[in-house]
Amino acid sequence: MGRITLDKVTKSFGDVEVIPPLDLTIEDGEFTVFVGPSGCGKSTLLRLIAGLEDISSGQIRIDGNDATHVPPSKRGLAMVFQSYALYPHMSVRKNIAFPLRMAKLDKAEQDRRVEQAAAVLNLADYLDRKPGQLSGGQRQRVAIGRAIVREPSAFLFDEPLSNLDAALRVGMRMEISELHKKLATTMVYVTHDQVEAMTMADKIVVLRAGHIEQVGSPLELYHNPRNLFVAGFIGSPT
Ligand code: ADP
Ligand code: MG
Repeated sequence: MGRITLDKVTKSFGDVEVIPPLDLTIEDGEFTVFVGPSGCGKSTLLRLIAGLEDISSGQIRIDGNDATHVPPSKRGLAMVFQSYALYPHMSVRKNIAFPLRMAKLDKAEQDRRVEQAAAVLNLADYLDRKPGQLSGGQRQRVAIGRAIVREPSAFLFDEPLSNLDAALRVGMRMEISELHKKLATTMVYVTHDQVEAMTMADKIVVLRAGHIEQVGSPLELYHNPRNLFVAGFIGSPT
């Protein structure tokens, strides 16, 4: 579960085509990073996959099924944003359980999933606190917890660490990589930070002006950048 295929996907805003026809396969269980300069279309591409924006043409398939016109909540994906968007008046437990309450899951199942997510994220001791009583890293973990409890077939991260200070960012980077190992679920991770891309990715997708410059493992891109743009972005000596 968690294989995502984009087939000749395009996106225009008005007359401006920000994503020209694009083909991409994200393999089941892979940690895929979209990297590229600001404005190159990373967030747009992620939002198209999530269904938060409609594609202008083409097809998106998830686990072999046409998901092009499937609403976001039915795609089996969970998105984690940089702004934590936690509810300040609710406990950590209630914040994490929020999507499950909306889905009207029974209470015992809600509790089971919240406890499980809290254990994975080392939040078990913080469930009764409010977000205001947490550190930035803990708040980010709560936001991830809210994605985990939905048991998605893939996680979509849009620059989740960009609000954190440098030291915390390194720690969270490792935590998310650990989480990927534990859950063995597809993760698509957007960043403009090449160190994040190189250290976290199984596969890097280098974007420039809405098109894919190159796809490969960090080592492939480092040793065999297709052009100077990729070399410059990956930090390779070429
Ligand atoms: P990135 O996440 O890589 O910084 P975005 O996906 O946010 O880039 O933006 C890609 C391009 O699409 C930019 O030129 C941006 O201005 C444009 N864009 C994004 N969202 C909208 C929108 N809702 N309306 C019009 N233009 C948009
Ligand atoms: Mg963005």
